[in-house]
Amino acid sequence: MTITSLAILLQVSSPNQNSSEVVFLAILSVLVILLTGISGKVNMGFQVPGFSRPLSSKRKEILKKHFPYYCQLSPNRRKRFEQKVQHFIYVKEFIPRQIPIVTEEMKVLISACAVQLTFGYPKVFLSHFKRILVYPDNYYSTINKTFHKGEVNPRLRAVVISWKAFVAGYFNPKDGRNLGLHEMAHALRLENLILNAEYNFFDGAVLQQWQTLADQEMQNISAGNSRMFRGYAATDPDEFFAVAVENFFERPEKFKSLMPNLYGILVLLLKQDPLNPL
Ligand SMILES: [Zn+2]
Repeated sequence: MTITSLAILLQVSSPNQNSSEVVFLAILSVLVILLTGISGKVNMGFQVPGFSRPLSSKRKEILKKHFPYYCQLSPNRRKRFEQKVQHFIYVKEFIPRQIPIVTEEMKVLISACAVQLTFGYPKVFLSHFKRILVYPDNYYSTINKTFHKGEVNPRLRAVVISWKAFVAGYFNPKDGRNLGLHEMAHALRLENLILNAEYNFFDGAVLQQWQTLADQEMQNISAGNSRMFRGYAATDPDEFFAVAVENFFERPEKFKSLMPNLYGILVLLLKQDPLNPL
């Protein structure tokens, strides 16, 4: 409703008012509209308070202590990283399994892992995956009757993590194995396909180039001629992508020197280069 129409409405509803009353009501209506606008903005702020609130010093300490990717960023990028971690923690439901609680350390580091992978995409938060389930160790999956270190379940909208395996992934930062990045990479590829606000953020042409090169390398691996990826990468295109992401962040020099084209496409796909940090 415009200011004029509100003033007319007030006039119509009180035909006997004199002109000063009409002016007063018009001013009042302007105030109402302004206040509504302001409160609208405040409400928008309250919809995502985790986003605007800075990351607590306790959480920053956890990043400084345990997350080298964060430590090597410039001060400005660190701030962006912190904001993304804060928002990620705020929008996800962290669910403890076989442990009493998901600790702050778990929340911060699992979120930091997701932010590391998606740092080239400021608006991507893997929004389909609302739940992060944390087990203390490998867990038994009743679906396929085996022990798992982690999985992504789009039907339950969940990323499942064994904390022990997650920590081991970052404890050995150069061995090309990182459970957290592996599972988040699965979530990222699915997120790109799921029809929601974060749908189709990958460049289609780049994705196509990726798949062509990935298919070639999967054939090499199957033939026993892997240049650096473990055999599991040849399972299917999703596993190949997840294993490539692990190597991209943990062994970028080797990856680039052995498979420069594949590495270059992954730089374009993830919009970041571990050899030239953002
Ligand atoms: Zn996998």
